[in-house]
Amino acid sequence: MNIEPVNPSTKNPPEQFVGDVWLDMIAVPHEDRQHMTVGLVRFAPGARTAWHSHERGQYLYVTQGIGRFGTRDGQIVEVRPGQTLYTPPGQEHWHAAAHGTFMEHIAMTENGDEPKSTTTWAEHVTDDQFNGA
Ligand code: MN
Repeated sequence: MNIEPVNPSTKNPPEQFVGDVWLDMIAVPHEDRQHMTVGLVRFAPGARTAWHSHERGQYLYVTQGIGRFGTRDGQIVEVRPGQTLYTPPGQEHWHAAAHGTFMEHIAMTENGDEPKSTTTWAEHVTDDQFNGA
């Protein structure tokens, strides 16, 4: 066994995120049959992902702040620290910090057989979609 290396925090790219969103990887696969990835993600107030989906779904455990999560049917779910949001395989969604508060969550995602196909990205989330207008 070993203590895993600590890598510098990385800022998530503007093609897929609006506002400041920082990522620290907690766990990544080491061997062929391992699929689990876990990341600590910190969103500045109002920062959000673009629309996307995960081939094998995703679990999002909110640790700080107020999370805001939306789906294509217009549903928006507010998630508080200690709660876990689940998105099923293939369901398009976004993650965000509510206005006026930071939000931190632990993202648990199972890689696809091809890691590059784990997450499929689409367009950015509009202000109306974010606000539920
Ligand atoms: Mn997601």
